[in-house]
Amino acid sequence: MRDSRDKEIGMDCRITRRDFLNGMALTAGAAIVPSFLFAFERRVDAEQSGNYYPPALTGLRGSHPGSFETVHSLRDGTFWEQAGTPEDTGEHYDLVIVGGGISGLSAAHFFRKAAGPNTRVLILENHDDFGGHAKRNEFTVANRRMIGYGGTYSIESPAPYSPVAKGVIEELGIDVAAYRKYVSRGLYRSFGLTPNIFFNKETFGTDKLVVNPLVVGGGETGERMVPNPERWKRFLADAPISEKAKRDYDRLHHESKDYFPGLTSGEKKARLARMSYAKFLTDLVGVDEDVVKILQAAPHDTFGLGIDAVAAQDAWGMGYPGFSGMKLDPTPGKGMNRDAIPNEEAERYFFHFPDGNATIARLLIRKLVPDGISGNSTTDVVTAGTNYEKLDRSGQPVRIRLNSTAVRVKHNGDPGSAKEVEVTYARFGKTYTVRAAHCILACWHVVIPYICDGLPEKQKQALYSATKVPLLYTNVAINNWEAFQKLGVSSVYAPGSYHTGCTLDVPVSIGDYHCSQRPDQPIVVHMMKTPCQAGLPARDQHRAGRVELFETTFETMERNIRDQLVRMVGPGGFDPARDITAITVNRWPHGYAYEYNSLWDEFWLEGGETPCEVARKKFGRISIANSDAGAYAYTDEAINQAWRAVGEIAKG
Ligand SMILES: Cc1cc2nc3c(=O)[nH]c(=O)nc-3n(C[C@H](O)[C@H](O)[C@H](O)COP(=O)(O)OP(=O)(O)OC[C@H]3O[C@@H](n4cnc5c(N)ncnc54)[C@H](O)[C@@H]3O)c2cc1C
Repeated sequence: MRDSRDKEIGMDCRITRRDFLNGMALTAGAAIVPSFLFAFERRVDAEQSGNYYPPALTGLRGSHPGSFETVHSLRDGTFWEQAGTPEDTGEHYDLVIVGGGISGLSAAHFFRKAAGPNTRVLILENHDDFGGHAKRNEFTVANRRMIGYGGTYSIESPAPYSPVAKGVIEELGIDVAAYRKYVSRGLYRSFGLTPNIFFNKETFGTDKLVVNPLVVGGGETGERMVPNPERWKRFLADAPISEKAKRDYDRLHHESKDYFPGLTSGEKKARLARMSYAKFLTDLVGVDEDVVKILQAAPHDTFGLGIDAVAAQDAWGMGYPGFSGMKLDPTPGKGMNRDAIPNEEAERYFFHFPDGNATIARLLIRKLVPDGISGNSTTDVVTAGTNYEKLDRSGQPVRIRLNSTAVRVKHNGDPGSAKEVEVTYARFGKTYTVRAAHCILACWHVVIPYICDGLPEKQKQALYSATKVPLLYTNVAINNWEAFQKLGVSSVYAPGSYHTGCTLDVPVSIGDYHCSQRPDQPIVVHMMKTPCQAGLPARDQHRAGRVELFETTFETMERNIRDQLVRMVGPGGFDPARDITAITVNRWPHGYAYEYNSLWDEFWLEGGETPCEVARKKFGRISIANSDAGAYAYTDEAINQAWRAVGEIAKG
């Protein structure tokens, strides 16, 4: 639907593939669609085309059109009506892996180490690129190549990496401790830029950008929540909220009050574990509604939920305000979410490549298919070319087959005694079968019951319960960041807006790749949205958010992006029609692995077998990996679970 401001915000600028992406007839926009995309519609050898390079595609990425329709038709029970008889490829492997994310790629790596380099492995991946959530986005602006992260942002985890996960990082040659050499930590500060909060008129009555005294919510700048008295004063003077709300916000941060006098620390934590942080704020601290609105989106980037669905005990663990007088002993309380348990060793283990953990995926590819990624070091890998045509060649030990959705995985015979597994996959409208001695399902758990024949009902239910956290990771390439400089803004937390986080790219230069160093140079602005629906139980919020993402057209997303940017940084001279050169929206309806939460998962508080332990049980010759298998949304878990799955094969 067109908006009267469309022209002003640049909706008529030809930067995107919106006509194509909205499924309408191709019109003028067709001229800028890469030719191989058309080829995808009909060509079985799309990856062989010389110009196949998905990271450079803009528009709707993440779970892009073409990646999800097959599984949705399996879910809807319509797939086999049209599928026809699968063609037998005659291929036989030692191992077929479903899912080319970090878990699937790590599983291939571990398997080859255990079974020998000549073992034959096939990886099936439904997206047009490898890496799963660890995806790379690229832009070229004014002859400058800019690399962004389309998903998995960094090597980081709330708990220390296991020896296995650390071992992989080290084997890949990544020196985590060397990160400080590559990041220009003080760059934005040296230009006077700091984190800000954007109050929008729909939520707070007026549009206003105000300095953020505490880095709460939004952004991926890696800045800690460090109190700053001068910024605090400016915030209280400028925030467009009532005097009462200001007093309450100040009180929340600076008053030391025990809201549960007479209870032991353990008893207090038990209560906080069963109460949302929003309730804690309204019912115990008694703050003004505007304070709740300010903090509502603070946990979006970690939990994919607002403070209505995050336990007060977790808010305490995350360092949110209000607990300084509660005299809680620092040990983790029962039922704490793993993201909320502070750990200094884990905090120190951090590395961000310009494309996030897509570099881990690229380094794994280089190990599995040596000429798949050119070069040979962890610094040259950032700009190294990807040879997609080499990923799936007959005769090589590891083959990575993109654009290929596994649709049926079954034992040839009884799961207890079968000697092989048959895997059927769909690719460009046709179905094919391969056979293997073993199979690892490193794909999303919610998919597994639809593709894996004969699983016990209890295991299926456990797999279904791993509902993913939906997210939008949007990258906007802009001509320069002068407006950000003029306003003194490095990142924006925008609690009422479409995207609740917005930040200038992390200034990292590695090898031949150089980040934007001056405000007159192009840059990538990263924006994040969590489409949760406050008020519902956590899993229902994620389901509702997923539907919202599927139903929103790229055109609407683009309009929201342009509108939000002009409202936030327009006063500094930002003109979306002039300054935006490309937009890539990485839509992840199935994003983070679901992590257990004391408000919604009784077993997490009370103990007992967790759904992920049931879900990941070995089934005959089929093992189950993915970060879902540990209910822990981090790369280290994707690796740990791959290790476990390969270990199961080794045990027989
Ligand atoms: C936006 C975002 C940001 C994140 N940021 C971080 C971060 O900073 N640090 C961190 O540690 N973690 C982060 N994560 C978590 C991330 O999920 C893990 O780190 C890790 O990348 C997960 O790897 P995986 O292989 O387990 O799953 P995935 O990356 O999801 O890979 C599974 C793959 O299987 C494919 N698949 C599914 N069904 C089929 C089928 N039937 N046939 C073929 N293929 C199939 C999927 O499409 C997917 O590509 C982030 C996640 C998201 C979504």
